[in-house]
Amino acid sequence: TIGMIALDSNGNLAAATSTNGLQFRIPGRVSDSALIGSGAFADNEVGGACATGDGDVMQRFVPSYNTVEAMRRGSSPEEAALDSIKRIAKFYPNFTGAVLALDRNGRHGAACNGMDKFPYSVMQNGWTDPQIFEIPCL
Ligand code: ASP
Repeated sequence: TIGMIALDSNGNLAAATSTNGLQFRIPGRVSDSALIGSGAFADNEVGGACATGDGDVMQRFVPSYNTVEAMRRGSSPEEAALDSIKRIAKFYPNFTGAVLALDRNGRHGAACNGMDKFPYSVMQNGWTDPQIFEIPCL
């Protein structure tokens, strides 16, 4: 999955995902990436989030929506993403996935499970190259 969250200079947020689906997927399967709130979600008042990983498991928890709502209640992007990952891991401790979050002030964070590390990149106006962040997973 390619997941992106964008914040423009007018404060507009957008989040989207594009996926080739899971390996050995059932033909005709609708990926979590296509489901608003699961694959991606954004609200100009708060921030945006997107998710990647075991979509059939993750979509049951609507993790992108949950992440944005956690930020609305005051969590940092990292805490909010971790809240979503922990909710899934409580029921599926071996699932593989990550959630990425960006708030309306441009702060970003991520959380992941089932891998050693998860890399994501950040690009900002005025930079010539994106910066790559790598976070340890649960
Ligand atoms: N979430 C995607 C899916 O289940 C797969 C991925 O993130 O790589 O289709």
